[in-house]
Amino acid sequence: MKILVTGGAGFLGSYLCKFLLEMGNEVICLDNFFTGNRDNIKPLLENPKFKVIPHDVINPFPVDLIGDVDQIYNLACPASPIHYQFDPIETIKANTQGVINVLEFAKLNGATVLQASTSEIYGDPLEHPQKESYKGNVNTLGPRACYDEGKRVAETLFMDYHRKYKLPIRMARIFNTYGPNMDKDDGRVVSNFITQSLKNKPLTIYGKGSQTRSFCYVDDLIKGLHKLMNSDYINPVNLGNPGEFTILDLAEKVIKLSNSESKIIYKNLPEDDPVRRKPDISLAKETLDWKPIINLEEGLKRTIDYFEKII
Ligand code: NAD
Ligand code: UDP
Repeated sequence: MKILVTGGAGFLGSYLCKFLLEMGNEVICLDNFFTGNRDNIKPLLENPKFKVIPHDVINPFPVDLIGDVDQIYNLACPASPIHYQFDPIETIKANTQGVINVLEFAKLNGATVLQASTSEIYGDPLEHPQKESYKGNVNTLGPRACYDEGKRVAETLFMDYHRKYKLPIRMARIFNTYGPNMDKDDGRVVSNFITQSLKNKPLTIYGKGSQTRSFCYVDDLIKGLHKLMNSDYINPVNLGNPGEFTILDLAEKVIKLSNSESKIIYKNLPEDDPVRRKPDISLAKETLDWKPIINLEEGLKRTIDYFEKII
């Protein structure tokens, strides 16, 4: 099969490209390298079935360069709050004009197209844990809105292309995912805490640390994305690890697992920071026969090993 991965040089994208190549597929990575890292995909370049096309999804697709494809995974969008808030207008464009370009290209090819959606579409959820039927609680005006609302309209566009053109679509609502290849400077909590811990610097907890997140190890997530793409399920599916931890729990685990002497300091909580987040993954279990198998402690150990090598 020939598969296009937009955002293929990023954290999740690079794993996905590797996974798809190992299965014998031909893979094209299309990326504007805003947050993508060439080192992530360097080992893949030796594979003749792998091709990289530098391109911004906001611009018309280089149709001739890409050629025909069977499947498209659309991951092109900065994912960490500091990166997606760096230029909110560009983030919205990636999720609107960029998504339309991806969908038009899928239509041209008759390709199945998967959207990397997010738990952020639930905003600061009033329902717990979050099921796919929950419609969300998002502030349209806040600093996270460029991402949250962008991803919401992307889902709308996917569904409208499906309704209007019968395009085969898939939508994965991805919950916080972590692992090796995360950008150490992306400001996300796992990368921040591990970097700080390994340098014996204070771990920066925003707010009181009582807010919760559910952390999924990258290998588990990639298997889920692949299963979803190769299912025939049209509606959104939560993919994440339902284990729920406070940010303070996470800080303490990271300090312990990295044998660090770091202390904890408290900083201001960013605006609209969700209080609780935990996926209900019953649908993924039933429709995809998928569930994560790597627990937080094991995943953190592997991630700490990686960061030890790059810091
Ligand atoms: P990442 O920032 O590491 O990767 C995003 C990739 O997209 C980068 O390679 C970047 O250069 C590229 N990109 C950004 N804008 C682009 C554009 N306009 N045109 C072409 N390429 C562009 O982030 P990630 O964690 O790998 O996330 C990948 C996808 O998964 C994103 O769409 C994100 O919203 C989604 N997601 C991730 C998580 C997570 O916890 N990692 C959770 C929910 C959803
Ligand atoms: N966070 C924190 N310290 C950090 C980075 C993040 O306490 O150095 C908190 C952040 O406020 C949020 C949680 O950790 O409550 C997860 O943040 P992240 O940016 O990783 O993901 P998101 O908020 O998008 O889930």
